[in-house]
Amino acid sequence: MPDATEEEISKVEQAIFKAGAMSRMLDEKLELQEIAKRITGDEKIEIIQNNIIPVYQCDCSKEHMAEGLATIGKEELRSIIEKEGRAETICHFCNKKYEFSKKELEDIMNTAI
Ligand SMILES: [Zn+2]
Repeated sequence: MPDATEEEISKVEQAIFKAGAMSRMLDEKLELQEIAKRITGDEKIEIIQNNIIPVYQCDCSKEHMAEGLATIGKEELRSIIEKEGRAETICHFCNKKYEFSKKELEDIMNTAI
């Protein structure tokens, strides 16, 4: 920002700092407008599209997890089936837990290379 004034720069810096608290505000389920106010420091802010509830949505699914399990390979899957008889995977992004029964693991093993 070569043309930015000192004041503008510090405003932006503050905004970035405030944005750091954004995830916490989302946790507190604050209104989007309130979040925008806090970040921009502008009381007269207007939200054109109302009633937006920002949610973090993970696109993980049991199918994705099964694909992931398949990549560990037939031998590894066979050994899990023999030793554990079941498997549990946890999504690294949303911490959702997926359980696989022996039958499901066998199916995955059959599709694995
Ligand atoms: Zn997930």
